[in-house]
Amino acid sequence: MLAPYAVEHSLGRRFPEPQHPYRNDFQRDRDRVIHSRAFRRLEAKTQVFTRRYSDHFRNRLTHTLEVAQISRTIAAQLGLNVDLVEALALVHDIGHPPFGHAGGRALDAVMRQHGFFFDHNLHALRIVEDFELRYAAFRGLNLSFEVREGIIKHSRDYDPAEYPELSEYLLESRPPLEAQLIDATDELAYNTADLDDGYEAHLLAFDQIQEGVPLFAGFLNEVQRLYPDAPEKLQFNEVIRRMLDRWVGDLIQNTKQRIGKAGEGARPTLEDIRAYPQRLVSLSPESEAARRETKDFLHKNLYFCSALQPEKEAAERIITDLFELWMQHPGKLPESYREKAEDEPLARVICDYIAGMTDPYIYERYDKFCGS
Ligand code: MG
Repeated sequence: MLAPYAVEHSLGRRFPEPQHPYRNDFQRDRDRVIHSRAFRRLEAKTQVFTRRYSDHFRNRLTHTLEVAQISRTIAAQLGLNVDLVEALALVHDIGHPPFGHAGGRALDAVMRQHGFFFDHNLHALRIVEDFELRYAAFRGLNLSFEVREGIIKHSRDYDPAEYPELSEYLLESRPPLEAQLIDATDELAYNTADLDDGYEAHLLAFDQIQEGVPLFAGFLNEVQRLYPDAPEKLQFNEVIRRMLDRWVGDLIQNTKQRIGKAGEGARPTLEDIRAYPQRLVSLSPESEAARRETKDFLHKNLYFCSALQPEKEAAERIITDLFELWMQHPGKLPESYREKAEDEPLARVICDYIAGMTDPYIYERYDKFCGS
């Protein structure tokens, strides 16, 4: 069932393990991710909206499940390894700190003041390689090479000269299509979901979306012809599902075409995909333009809107204040982190501690150490 360009077998694990009698390597990786602490914490990490707005908005966990669902559908159509895709989707946001992107920016900013930086992909790799302690024989989850490679390479390229410690991940070559897919699906999932949650939160108005997102306006005409008397929210839902369906269908068709052209006559192999100068998973230029318009609309009208500003400022203050407090008083860190600071820079240890926290836990720490 797998296409010749799909990942069929793993190149292996860091610590060799016997094959499982009825689960393949990537099914095991998926299961290890689901059973990890970091995965469970996604439930209490902000995606875009905190729970102040509603308890039915996406959090990092439900966003992750949406990415996994959409990715499986596309992977099956492209003949890719669905088990690997599912493992990659479930792990793709595991390195995010509390408070969504505001938290990531704040943590990076405070790290840079101490001569370091924060990158959620690199942090995710540290989680699965080192922080998760579940097995007697090794630290971390001992995931297959392809899942670790995908964690690093799904959303960006890393310059091998700048990141020599990542050289084992074949930084000069493209990741397999299974990993390339995750970034594309992630975008489609949150572009549609954030319109939905933004509208439900009353931060985006129906008319405003209609004016600012041409693809939305186009489908709205069709929906209003079909269901002229339906309530606005149901018309809205009908439009959003058409947008997602259009993009997913386009991604499948356009990627198929690009794969077809990449093989110089024959169907390309995984080696051809790795050696190809560009990533092959992409929307058609027309759909890419529509996605770009939607993303720009969300940036302008939702992500940076004044209503969300106070929460972002609080996120920045909480992360910065706690970070500096522990830099000044490392004795106030939990014992396991004090021990780690004997071997690693203190700033890195504090960053790891904060990045692992859920939103409620970092609030609790802040009240304890910085509360009046
Ligand atoms: Mg994501």
